[in-house]
Amino acid sequence: MLCTVASNENHHAARNAQRTVRNTYRLPSSVRHCERCDRYHVVVEADRCWNRKRWREILVYVAQGYRDPEIGPLVKMSAKGVEYAVLEMTKRLNAMSRPNLVAIAICLGILDPNDFVPEFDEKRHG
Ligand SMILES: [Zn+2]
Repeated sequence: MLCTVASNENHHAARNAQRTVRNTYRLPSSVRHCERCDRYHVVVEADRCWNRKRWREILVYVAQGYRDPEIGPLVKMSAKGVEYAVLEMTKRLNAMSRPNLVAIAICLGILDPNDFVPEFDEKRHG
């Protein structure tokens, strides 16, 4: 379960949060009880609404700080295609920037930090 997702004390509060998610982002979601934190998470079902597996893949690279030209070959898309996907996700999640996009995606359960561990790149700190 995704404990990085915003949580609610009870099922009723979670249902209200789910309504807000639906009205704000127009995204399908589900309410799930989490045994780990004994709270309720509203998890957005991104695969159902975006219907684009590669968008989530791109998001994982964005979360790790990769730029569009670097992401392209990793997901077998052009840099322009990646740029479009990031822009579209940014619009749909009402994000102000790439870091904000990542933060929102984690809060909504679209991006699971357990799916990846950011790599340490010596070149960036040299
Ligand atoms: Zn939890």
